[in-house]
Amino acid sequence: MKLKYSNKINKIRTVALALVFAGMIIMYIGLLFKSYEWVMVLFMFLGLIAIILSTVIYFWIGMLSTRAVQVACPECGKATKVLGRVDACMFCKQPLTLDPNLEGEEFDEKYNSKKYWKEQEKKSNS
Ligand SMILES: [Zn+2]
Repeated sequence: MKLKYSNKINKIRTVALALVFAGMIIMYIGLLFKSYEWVMVLFMFLGLIAIILSTVIYFWIGMLSTRAVQVACPECGKATKVLGRVDACMFCKQPLTLDPNLEGEEFDEKYNSKKYWKEQEKKSNS
């Protein structure tokens, strides 16, 4: 089963990389407005913000990585990192879970939401 869902750490990394490029493109556009100084400064500033933001995200990924659990993917055998209750393999996108109760269940991103589990708890209590 192949999912559109991809590994969380990979996804965040892609966003950070996209931001670096966006920042560079914005700064480049700014250079085209050399004759309008304030426009150039504005673009430079926005570009800088995008790049700073991506640095922050990269830092955040580093923190997440240390919290993620490293597992060997049963599908491709590579070492991948699982973040949260359910995640996808970084390499083959095989859905993975750390929760034995969810093993064999249809993959669903809702398993990562705290709200979902609170509702389940309520159901089992009533
Ligand atoms: Zn895999």
